[in-house]
Amino acid sequence: MITDHLYQLLPEELSRWLVKHDHSPNQVRSMMAWAYKKQSPALFPRLLNDLEKLPKSLPSIIERHLSTDGTQKILFATEDGLKVESVILNYHRKLTVCLSTQVGCAMGCTFCRTGMAGLGRNLEAYEIVGMYLHLRNLIWHENSMEAPCPNIVFMGQGEPLHNFEQVKRALEILTHPWALDLGSRQITLSTVGYLPGLRRFHELPRVNLAFSLHSPFEEERRQLIPIETRYPLPEIQQVLKSMSLLPRQFITLEYLILKDMNHSERHALALADWCRNMKSIVNLIPYNAVTGLSFERPSEEAVDLFKKSLVDLGVRVMERVARGSDIAAACGQLASRDYSSEAP
Ligand code: SAH
Ligand code: SF4
Repeated sequence: MITDHLYQLLPEELSRWLVKHDHSPNQVRSMMAWAYKKQSPALFPRLLNDLEKLPKSLPSIIERHLSTDGTQKILFATEDGLKVESVILNYHRKLTVCLSTQVGCAMGCTFCRTGMAGLGRNLEAYEIVGMYLHLRNLIWHENSMEAPCPNIVFMGQGEPLHNFEQVKRALEILTHPWALDLGSRQITLSTVGYLPGLRRFHELPRVNLAFSLHSPFEEERRQLIPIETRYPLPEIQQVLKSMSLLPRQFITLEYLILKDMNHSERHALALADWCRNMKSIVNLIPYNAVTGLSFERPSEEAVDLFKKSLVDLGVRVMERVARGSDIAAACGQLASRDYSSEAP
């Protein structure tokens, strides 16, 4: 059942809501401009009255932390009292928000703080959209309403494709011209390779895809990412290779570098081989320390060496600069609570 909530409903559903309440469905567009674009169109008083009946509460901001590099971590509370984090990243004054799709995560990757927590629950589309609205409003408040809407990376807590229906709905709202009107190239979804969702990726509005590879060897990947056992690399590779991409669009292959584990010459060769004939860019992510885990961050020299080996092998590579490590806002450091006792 679809939750009746202003920020959950798609235009055709809002039209039905209007009709059900004896209003003209033609008012949907101005109703959405009012909800999403902070425009104050002339809504009829009777409609404004009825709108009181439509829930519209969003997760609330309960904490904000500012990093020395300008990154902000924002802690939200859902209505049922769960906590979930988002990050505002500022790269060369271009703002990107990192959003979560679940409270915790069920995938249990051994290097990830979110994974340690287990799954709390899926976020509803209105909660995902709501966090974006809050962050955009903060940015507008602190810059100006002329500031462009921030880009989105779904790289916060949770595995987006494990919460497919709500993520799909959120993406439809985020990209709809009457709602947030984001361009598909402004949004990137990162997945660990949850195949039931990955196989349905074409059902989503077109967005960029990032895949967390981390090792080209199945056995080694299994040690890091337990779901590799059920959804193995060769099947994922097949799906990725068959994906239709826009011109100048690439699949990002995220590659976490763990000290002395997965950055040898042998790894470079196998990685180059793995992404042959795939329109992709490898994104190297030096591991960010997580308290309680024994993995270590590689030295800059080791990362450079690995990068050079890949470039020499003809692989397109870039490196992700860690942001917000001092406030535990960098990749893999987000965790608002421990859900391990509730994990499936
Ligand atoms: N669940 C999705 C998206 C969220 S994680 C996924 O796994 O792809 C976003 C990225 O951060 C992933 O590539 C993930 O592997 C990486 N990551 C997780 N823990 C990390 C850590 N401690 N240091 C650096 N990157 C990490
Ligand atoms: Fe979940 Fe991604 Fe963390 Fe793995 S890396 S536990 S999939 S959030």
